[in-house]
Amino acid sequence: MSQFWSPLVRTLTPYVPGEQPKVTNLIKLNTNENPYPPSPAVTAAMQAVSAASLRLYPDPDSSQLKQTLADYHGVKPNEIFVGNGSDEVLAFVFMALLKHESPLLFPDITYSFYPVYCRLFGIDYVEVPLNDEMKIDIGDYTGRECGAIIFPNPNAPTGIPLPLSAIEQLLQAQPQAVVVVDEAYVDFGGETALPLMQRYPNLLVVRTFSKSRSLAGLRVGFAVGHPALIEGMERVKNSFNSYPMDRLATAGAVASYQDDAYFRQTVQAVIDSREEMTRALQELGFTVLPSSANFVFARHPAFSAESLAAGLRERAIIVRHFKHPRIDQYLRISIGTPEECQQLVAALTLLT
Ligand code: PMP
Repeated sequence: MSQFWSPLVRTLTPYVPGEQPKVTNLIKLNTNENPYPPSPAVTAAMQAVSAASLRLYPDPDSSQLKQTLADYHGVKPNEIFVGNGSDEVLAFVFMALLKHESPLLFPDITYSFYPVYCRLFGIDYVEVPLNDEMKIDIGDYTGRECGAIIFPNPNAPTGIPLPLSAIEQLLQAQPQAVVVVDEAYVDFGGETALPLMQRYPNLLVVRTFSKSRSLAGLRVGFAVGHPALIEGMERVKNSFNSYPMDRLATAGAVASYQDDAYFRQTVQAVIDSREEMTRALQELGFTVLPSSANFVFARHPAFSAESLAAGLRERAIIVRHFKHPRIDQYLRISIGTPEECQQLVAALTLLT
């Protein structure tokens, strides 16, 4: 690392995402992508964007996408912030917390991007341990002094959801803090906090097109919250780059929301496969946490996660496991097509 960069940059430990292999003959169950392609309407809409139009900058306000999202979710366009994937939306959330005088709270076992961003921006944070059942306990967050709270719902990588009543309790107990609910996986069985938005100006819901909408490669995410919260994020964004969404991504994202039947059908197929996979893993002796996401988190009493992951890899199947001591015996397995799930279960049958 060059000594020309700042001391802070020289100490950074970057976020390491799951492996994105270059070969396509692997069964890829490691980064929670959707096994189904996006709606044909998405392909058609993107093909209809003329190459000539790419000469022109896109709409700096992303009005069409915001209007589409607003209509679908029953909110107003000025209650929506859009970005290149929810990671970018989250980055703007973290930037809006820069130099905040009170700490940010999040679970000790959660999306590993959060502490990475805190370190990059020097944001003070506290990791709150999950309870003995690997759940977020709202009581652990209500009595603490903080400027903001963030967690995924359902949580990652456990897949365990929080009920809306718990989120409402938190919003009431911490009215001075922004409560950011990262709903990356909510469509697979969680309860969205969006209905609470009109009553709580401190709630920000973050969503992505990468999971339930099969568009991880397009990079589209958004946040929904009180106009004053959104205005703050727009200020941060405009200090960085005023053009959030490119023309192709806008066309694809809008079309995805126009094909609701396809969305519902593919989400249901993933949920059905998850339930079947859970049963099959339990029959093999795995403990499987109750997932409301498009992945399961499972451990076997007799085999280490590392050895199982290595055995699967030899059989051309990739899954994820983590180094954190409380979860290092768990495999996180994304839900694939029914055929992929069957191959995974067949491989684990041989390995256990
Ligand atoms: N939040 C959570 C909890 C995630 O697991 C992910 C995906 N790794 C993201 C946000 C980011 O997704 P994207 O940037 O693709 O929208």
